[in-house]
This record gives sequence, structure tokens and C-alpha cells, in this order.
Amino acid sequence: MKIQLLALSLTLLIFSSCIEKSNKVLEELSVPEEDSNLKKSIIDLTHTFSEETVYWVTAKEFQLEVVSRGDTDKGFFYAANNFETAEHGGTHLDAPIHFSKGKQSVEEIPLEKLIGEAIKIDVSDNALEDRDYLVSVQDFQEWEAANGKIKDGVIVLLETGHSKYYPDKLKYLGTDQRGAEAIKLLHFPGLSSEAAGWLVENRSISAIGIDTPSIDYGQSEYFKSHVILLSDNIPVFENVANLDKLPNKGFEVIALPMKIKDGSGAPLRIVGVLQQ
Ligand SMILES: [Zn+2]
Repeated sequence: MKIQLLALSLTLLIFSSCIEKSNKVLEELSVPEEDSNLKKSIIDLTHTFSEETVYWVTAKEFQLEVVSRGDTDKGFFYAANNFETAEHGGTHLDAPIHFSKGKQSVEEIPLEKLIGEAIKIDVSDNALEDRDYLVSVQDFQEWEAANGKIKDGVIVLLETGHSKYYPDKLKYLGTDQRGAEAIKLLHFPGLSSEAAGWLVENRSISAIGIDTPSIDYGQSEYFKSHVILLSDNIPVFENVANLDKLPNKGFEVIALPMKIKDGSGAPLRIVGVLQQ
């Protein structure tokens, strides 16, 4: 009996300390009434999926088929749709297997790589002047000179400023034509293969994102930056939105793709969470 009582009081003790802890967490999460800006601290970095969504010029575009939208004869309203999409279009993730044989597919990427501290490198001054701009090693070194060394495990976002053209295909992709012939007409900024190599060899980032259709620039033929990053198990986010609303550091990213088995990529919901 004594032992039972002891066990009970121990349980109560643990229980009450749990309540204390969860109250503390709630306290930390709660926002003063006069400043209920919690929603404003979450920045949606995702373009909406619709028939306007920008896809690679050879990929199947997004289609929404309305199955039902209206009042039923049973008295309730009912809406449901089917949708169809390529993996690589709109705001999406590239899984390592996209350019690297035997590497992780979408559902195998550890969530630790997709959620965490993030930084932004703003190259928009140069990239808005030159559609073929390549983010360079120097851009990373200049960021580090101003902000400190890129920490292990961070998510890196590259801001070229080109998301302001989305979804105007001519301005965003460099062409509004489609099909294999249109590939050579693509002009948008990307990450240079030298900088991709520098990142892999000298830093240890979790993931990387960009506000253009591809981490390799539009004129790329061999997609070297894809190969370098994905071979090193660094997932890539493409067609990211709203990077101008983020600071250079001091925020977190949550990037959750649709969990497609054997997926080489997937539609992605990505948000930035600014610290209070
Ligand atoms: Zn992709």
C-alpha cells in the first residue's frame, strides 16, 4: 500500500510538473491581447497552385477537376475536386534522387533537413539586372563577412528578386513557349556550380531554396548545381515566394512536401517563421 501511495504521489508530482511545463510553453506562445500579431510572424513562401502555376516547359501543368460543388439533395453542401500535376512545378521540392541515382526520394528525406534555422542571401541587385545571373562563391563570402559564418545545419534561401514576375511566364521563365524547343529560350538566374561545390565542400547546410524555376540557371545544359547538391543529400526548393519579406538571418523555415513514395520531387508548402 505504501508503495502504491508513493507511486501515486510520484505520478502526481510528475503530472503537476508537466502541467507547469506546458503552462510555460503556452505562456511563451501566447501573445499579448493588444499585440495579437502571431499570424504576421509566419510568412508564406509558397505560390498558390492553380492553372496559372509555372511549370518546366516540358512538364504537365496543374489541373483541377471539380467533382462536386453545390447543395446535395440531402440538404448539405458538398465540394470535392481531383487534381493532376507534375512533381516539378510551382513551389516544389527536388529530392536527392531527382539527379542522383540511388539517393533519397521525397518520403525518405529526414524532416530535420526541412525544418529549422534559416538564412537568406539577397542577390537581387545583380540578378534583376542580369537574367542569366549566377549566384557566386563571392556572394556567400560577402554574406558571411556581414553576418558571420554560415552555421552547420541551416537552410539557405537565395533571393534573386525574380518571384515578382511570377506567374508571367515570359518574364519569369524568359519564354512563354512550351515543349523541348523552349528549353534553350529559358533565361532566369540560378546558383553557379562553383558555389554549389563550395557549399558542399566547405559548409554543412540542410537544404537550399531559390525564387526561380530551378537551382541551375535557365541556360544550364548539364544541371551541375542540381547534381552537386542532390548527390550530397541536400534537398532543393524551387519557385519559392515572398523572400523579400524575410530578414537575412534570425528566422526558421518549415518546408513540408507532399509525401510521395518514390517521388523525385513534390509540391511543397513552405513558410518562414520570424522570431518574436
Ligand atoms: Zn524540381
